Amino acid sequence: MFNLILFGPPGSGKGTQSEKLIAKYGLKHLSTGDLLRSEIREQTPLGKEAQNFMDKGQLVPDEVVIGMISSALDNNPNAKGFLFDGFPRTAAQAEALDKLLELKEAPIAVMLALEVSEEELIKRLLKRGETSGRSDDTNESVIRARITEYHNKTAVVADYYKQFDKVEMVKGEGTIDEIFNRLCTEIDKRA
Ligand code: AMP
Repeated sequence: MFNLILFGPPGSGKGTQSEKLIAKYGLKHLSTGDLLRSEIREQTPLGKEAQNFMDKGQLVPDEVVIGMISSALDNNPNAKGFLFDGFPRTAAQAEALDKLLELKEAPIAVMLALEVSEEELIKRLLKRGETSGRSDDTNESVIRARITEYHNKTAVVADYYKQFDKVEMVKGEGTIDEIFNRLCTEIDKRA
């Protein structure tokens, strides 16, 4: 099993690159943002709770997303590996993920961390908001709140994996294919 985390701030290209990576490496894509948006569409109690946080650009509570990931792992017993996108986003989530993967004897192989300037992030998110139908992409103050959450709570997750020598920084600017090739080079070194 090959498990990897695609890491980076909102707008760094995690979703776009995830699609290409799962196609190439046959991994199961687990995006907590996508899972939460699907709960919201179905108006489940979990979705309704999550929406209050997402509308403000705040992180959803750890126990909610950890529970979702735990079920997703159980529901895909035959996966060749998982690509985690947008998860873990706090140190507590990272520790919980490691425990869940320990049970499967399939630890995280590598965290690929996309680096993009803040100015470029805001530009990309506002552009995405024109077509994504995501309300959290159209309002600049919500976008800034999401980036602040990233700095305050999520950036430390890279430090957590650095202690195990699992982090590779990847330049997240350039064409989609250039970035994809950089990611593949790092994966092929570890696979
Ligand atoms: P994303 O699609 O990854 O940009 O996530 C959209 C929103 O969903 C975030 O701004 C958070 O409110 C929420 N969210 C997604 N993943 C997580 C997570 N791992 N932990 C907490 N909140 C999350």
